[in-house]
Amino acid sequence: MEEEMIPIDPEAVMSFNCSSQNICFNDCCRDLSQALTPYDILRMKNNLGMPSQEFLRRYTSRHTGPLSGLPVVEFKPNPQTGHACPFVTRKGCSIYSDRPGSCRLYPLARAISRSRQTGQVMEYYALIKEDHCKGFAERTGDQTVKEWLAGQDVAQHNFQNDKLMMLISTKNMILPGRLEPVQADHFYMALYDIDEFRDRIFNHGLFNVLNVPPGILDKIRDNDPFLLDLGIKWIQYILFGMEIKFEG
Ligand code: SF4
Ligand code: SF4
Repeated sequence: MEEEMIPIDPEAVMSFNCSSQNICFNDCCRDLSQALTPYDILRMKNNLGMPSQEFLRRYTSRHTGPLSGLPVVEFKPNPQTGHACPFVTRKGCSIYSDRPGSCRLYPLARAISRSRQTGQVMEYYALIKEDHCKGFAERTGDQTVKEWLAGQDVAQHNFQNDKLMMLISTKNMILPGRLEPVQADHFYMALYDIDEFRDRIFNHGLFNVLNVPPGILDKIRDNDPFLLDLGIKWIQYILFGMEIKFEG
């Protein structure tokens, strides 16, 4: 598949129209090799009303980053369907309101960097031009990149996914090279398999050595984004020895 990445400014006009009337409708949901983030998993498993263990087992596969040793989670490959996403239907995406961040961004890709001096996060975008996507040929869709992003409701995904990017960046600075398998398993459980993480906290004493305030325990019980934030803090604690500050 031919693919071209063209850097683009957020204020630039992006002539693109994606519609169910396009002959390419749903083609972007096939032949996938798409990394899923912890927040993607959280939204999808809640959309389906499914515990994270079951969602991960049914719909995803786990690999290991060859240099970092970090877990990489993707949709389970299915050659029988041309590696189609498990959620694509003839009418489109069956979990549209909770589709992953990368699905919302397409045909854009996003990267970030953080200034060491100010801590400010800078965003960079590129257009992904692939043969199968005919949206660029539809001339009715002039909008700026910013307007396109607003229409895709991607801000919350970006906000949550940036926390993962910062964690990985810290890991690469403090612990360059491959994680040990047991460290990778902890990373996977706390961030991707958060219902298992919750179960370990409440039923297997995972936080017994930590002085967790009762109000925090209530939030852990039924607030998944809060638990995901806590998972990041716990990984910083066990990998880098950073103190966990219980706030919220
Ligand atoms: S989650 Fe939805 S939008 Fe994303 S690849 Fe699957 S069907 Fe397509
Ligand atoms: S225009 Fe591109 S993004 Fe839209 S359905 Fe077609 S392939 Fe997918």
